Amino acid sequence: MTAEPAATETGRDFIRDIVQADLDSHKHKHIVTRFPPEPNGYLHIGHAKSIALNFGIAQEFSGQCNLRFDDTNPTREEQEYIDSIQADVRWLGYDWGPNLFYASDYFDRLYEWAESLIRSGLAYVDDQSQEEIRLNRGTLTEPGRNSPFRDRPVEENLDLFRRMKAGEFPNGACVLRARIDMASGNINLRDPVLYRILHAHHPRTGTKWSIYPSYDYAHGQSDAIEGVTHSICTLEFEDHRPLYEWLLDKLPVPSKPRQYEFARLNLTYTLLSKRVLTQLVRDGHVAAWDDPRMPTIAGLKRRGVPPAAVRDFIKRIGVAKANSVVDVGMLEFSIREYLNRTAPRRMAVLRPLKVVIENYPESASEEIEAINHPDDPAAGTRRIAFGRELYIERDDFMENPPKKFFRLSPGTEVRLRYAYFIKCIGIIKNAAGEVTELRCTYDPATKGGNAPDGRKVKATMHWLPVAQSKPAEIRIYNQLFVNPTPDAANFAADLNPQSLEILSDARIEPAIAEANSAEPMQFERQGYFVRDSDSTPDRPVFNRTIGLRDTFAKEVAKG
Ligand code: ATP
Ligand code: MG
Repeated sequence: MTAEPAATETGRDFIRDIVQADLDSHKHKHIVTRFPPEPNGYLHIGHAKSIALNFGIAQEFSGQCNLRFDDTNPTREEQEYIDSIQADVRWLGYDWGPNLFYASDYFDRLYEWAESLIRSGLAYVDDQSQEEIRLNRGTLTEPGRNSPFRDRPVEENLDLFRRMKAGEFPNGACVLRARIDMASGNINLRDPVLYRILHAHHPRTGTKWSIYPSYDYAHGQSDAIEGVTHSICTLEFEDHRPLYEWLLDKLPVPSKPRQYEFARLNLTYTLLSKRVLTQLVRDGHVAAWDDPRMPTIAGLKRRGVPPAAVRDFIKRIGVAKANSVVDVGMLEFSIREYLNRTAPRRMAVLRPLKVVIENYPESASEEIEAINHPDDPAAGTRRIAFGRELYIERDDFMENPPKKFFRLSPGTEVRLRYAYFIKCIGIIKNAAGEVTELRCTYDPATKGGNAPDGRKVKATMHWLPVAQSKPAEIRIYNQLFVNPTPDAANFAADLNPQSLEILSDARIEPAIAEANSAEPMQFERQGYFVRDSDSTPDRPVFNRTIGLRDTFAKEVAKG
């Protein structure tokens, strides 16, 4: 089995080129990046792109990447999210070392700096309601209107801001705004809100604060405090860059980070918005944040996706300046490619149909040797019991087969993998007319799977012994959305009603049951599977990580 490569695979892109140029020109000696999640949900595959970019650059250029929680909105943030984010970044293969920070660590300094803005006449307390502020902000074509409170004297502003901090006013009574330009062509510069009143318990600062900084105010200053050199964010923030720079320019910050924007990851059949993902969990469309159908890191992990496959995918898609939608098939390609190389082969029968080999002696049994990996002899072999009563896959039999069906049907001969040729000589049905058992014969001369007379069969099928195989539940996952570009505003309408299929009568090899491993395995002819945490000692549960081939794309093409 090939060892998992370290998290250092890289490509080249415009941001790495900027970093290289800044080192070459001695603008910076030491590169500092950061990954700044808001702890209001679990991380998703889009975040993985940002994580791989920020941590990847730090690794490649011998710099540092901070993990900083942007915990400025206590009404939506929870410790569970803080914990899951750390676990997920580590699982992806990245390490922030001692550089774990929280924007809330800087609340005192951010507050002092806000007072300094007030003293310079660059910030004021606005008593307008949220609605009035919105109406007076203007539009893309019309300038905004100055607030009637914009020209308050400095002393009055300071007094009001201190009283906001002291908790004297209810939520929404007033805000602190930067005093920039209500006629600016950039709406972000029309006196943006720096502080709002929020009487809420914060996971880290408790009830100390009744005012909280806005994202725009907290973010750049946190970057500056940490000495971040390259503050990398997604394109939506391009229009915020002038404000980011204005604040750094007006405040006595210890360093001047530069902001660079890249295109966020969008995937077909997937929604990567925390608002939507939160709703999927809350409304019970999925079982939890780590439901294997979720595009969350926790979901991918539970589904059996190896972190190296996620990194390979991120590397393949690259980093660009224009938004686009990536085919989810590319992620699946990276997963298959990795698992094909690394996953041991096993046999499982997902929908069992019993076969009785009539000419096989009643009480006899033998051991058949099966190989663990076709491309890796070092992976060795294992033994599987063969006997008179077997299971085959229900789909591998048809009573009245169409022309191109080469698997088992009355009178045809097929190979049971590693074992013998068998031929179907009889069918047993229940009262409803369903096939419940097949009667077959085997040819003892074909042991190992080849006929000495050179005759050929057109199919090789997997199988398991009835007595020695073990029961299991198998969960098959399909795309969560039926629409390649689901509508985030009305996502429930695009949900796939068949996103989860539970096979409760599956049978697995003893080697699978015994492995008790979190490593994915290939179930021959079926795909890659991993043991799920819902397993119990007598009832293991497996998730299908992914099928062997891209059957989904074919189904879509067929219409
Ligand atoms: P929302 O889902 O509500 O838009 P968010 O994903 O931006 O929220 P954050 O916690 O603020 O949530 O994100 C942390 C970092 O991850 C940010 O720097 C953000 O730019 C980046 N990021 C978020 N989504 C993506 C994505 N789809 N592709 C690349 N980077 C992303
Ligand atoms: Mg965000």
